[in-house]
Amino acid sequence: MADVSLEVLGAWLRGFAAAVAANRDQLTALDSAIGDADHGANLDRGMAAVVTALDARPAADAADLFARTGMALVSNVGGASGPLFGTFFLRIGAALGAATTVSAMELGAALHAGVSGVEVRGKAELGDKTMLDVLVPALDAWDAALDVPDSAPQLRNGAPSAASALSRSCSAAAARAAAAARDATAPLVARKGRASYLGERSVGHIDPGAASTALLFAALADALAE
Ligand code: ADP
Ligand code: MG
Ligand code: MG
Repeated sequence: MADVSLEVLGAWLRGFAAAVAANRDQLTALDSAIGDADHGANLDRGMAAVVTALDARPAADAADLFARTGMALVSNVGGASGPLFGTFFLRIGAALGAATTVSAMELGAALHAGVSGVEVRGKAELGDKTMLDVLVPALDAWDAALDVPDSAPQLRNGAPSAASALSRSCSAAAARAAAAARDATAPLVARKGRASYLGERSVGHIDPGAASTALLFAALADALAE
């Protein structure tokens, strides 16, 4: 059973870029309700720059793939989400280092390093109505799926797979948890970022960064399911 390859990780990033482009207006609409109506535009600009950076040459290893991704986001997105997503990917790259294939456990650990980076950089806490409210439950679901390898779906026809069955079941669990956690940000009062200026008036709206983070996990599950 093969680990997750660099190609699959690259497909994740490209899939996320495509999902952000397709949902750009929806993300901006969420940000117009409780922010400054630029989240879709910000992230689309950033992820388009990521795709350009990745197109330039094949990635040598995971560190190279995610460093180029993180740097493109940090240097092309003015909003809060650029440095936060950028840090997330830079930390993932640092955690995976020179790896060219990764196991479900290694990828989970790298995602945890990414989430820690977002926590340190943004100083938000769980329940503050930010992307962290999706990142943390998604990783909890990943960890729970890691602990029950028997639940991994069987490889179809016994054919060799680019991604291990365990990584697939972890990423599918994380994507489901992320979608639920995105919706669960609606009743929260924003305590970080621009939405916090609205206080109680932020209640009833899904956090834009939570919505884009759910797209991130959906893209990972899709890339691993290929
Ligand atoms: P800006 O708010 O600068 O216009 P964006 O609209 O692109 O930037 O991104 C807003 C999103 O960033 C929010 O919906 C929230 O999820 C996330 N965010 C903002 N501040 C923080 C923070 N301190 N920690 C974690 N996430 C944050
Ligand atoms: Mg904004
Ligand atoms: Mg802005």
